[in-house]
Amino acid sequence: MARLTLDHVTKSFADFDAVKDVSIDVGDGEFLAVLGPSGCGKTTLLRLVAGFEKVTSGEIRIGSDVVSGKGGSVAPEKRRVGIVFQNYALWPHMTVAENIGYSLKVAKLDKAVARRKVEDALALVNLQGLGDRRPANLSGGQRQRVALARCLVAAPSLVLFDEPLANLDVHLRASMEDEFAAFHKRTGTTIVYITHDQAEAMALADRIAVMDGGRLAQLATPRELYHEPANEMVASFISQGILLPADVLSAEQAGHCKVRVLGTELVVRCRAGERPRAGAKICCRASDLDVSPDGPGFDGLVKRVIYQGGAARIEFTPVAGADLILHFEQPDPVVLESGAQARLRIRSGWLIPAAGGAW
Ligand code: ATP
Repeated sequence: MARLTLDHVTKSFADFDAVKDVSIDVGDGEFLAVLGPSGCGKTTLLRLVAGFEKVTSGEIRIGSDVVSGKGGSVAPEKRRVGIVFQNYALWPHMTVAENIGYSLKVAKLDKAVARRKVEDALALVNLQGLGDRRPANLSGGQRQRVALARCLVAAPSLVLFDEPLANLDVHLRASMEDEFAAFHKRTGTTIVYITHDQAEAMALADRIAVMDGGRLAQLATPRELYHEPANEMVASFISQGILLPADVLSAEQAGHCKVRVLGTELVVRCRAGERPRAGAKICCRASDLDVSPDGPGFDGLVKRVIYQGGAARIEFTPVAGADLILHFEQPDPVVLESGAQARLRIRSGWLIPAAGGAW
């Protein structure tokens, strides 16, 4: 197992920076997800760690070895990095056992030892007895497990997953998610897991690196990302936070600020050191809001109620902010109706930090 360090890593293609000044420290045995929208630089980051690309500036270290950067360079095959690809990348003409044992054969390992290692790897991914099959005769989930076993026999110090569930249907995704979590628990391998799926990242990762336009937007636990997003991008990308314009009036007791939102004063959670400022935003979650036909709060109009079974998606426009449309979910029983007047009470919120950068 090993620790992975990205130290101010930038990767440019011509004059375009696909990865910009990214610093991440992945602990020994940690499960890190790299999450972000299409084109944010996730795959480029993975290719840099694997060694398929060289950094333009900055440094990548695995353990104490500099693998890319001014301080040194290590060839991809010498990095002891295993990769599980989205499309499995299995050789169709080889059996499952041959696919898994290929790297051991290339390394000219004793045949009996190699066979035992292949069997152990098959057992680790619950594929005992399927060693003689060809990939074509396996399900998508089984193929993905062969890919995982193949990467494991080489005893990597670090495993990279490149959107490994993207080709699987919803039910299989959930069971493979469980298997990846069990695999991590059993082996304690350091994992970097690329995905654009928030639920997958949250279910699996110790910490998540959210990328935006090549930059690291925030590196935090799933809970921190949800409750304390570092900027507007993270607030809306993670579970579609509800953003409201706010002026910061004063700092209150530790971790709280008084803000004015839609003409009303409110105390919200914030980072330490916040000062009065105009033009800020707060992020609320559906559970922070009460909407009712006649309760306390701001007056507004329920523009639409889209019933979804067990909950409804509400579109709400406050009278005091007529250009704002707030989208949020309400659990059953849904008492609101499209076109009705209603009141919105904000029970709590989080002040989006001033700097907005990664922290
Ligand atoms: P997706 O989820 O769609 O795979 P991603 O987050 O993995 O996206 P990358 O594939 O890392 O994003 O690409 C980031 C940006 O860098 C994109 O704008 C892409 O077009 C650009 N890019 C990636 N590789 C190259 C390359 N070899 N040459 C030029 N531009 C590239």
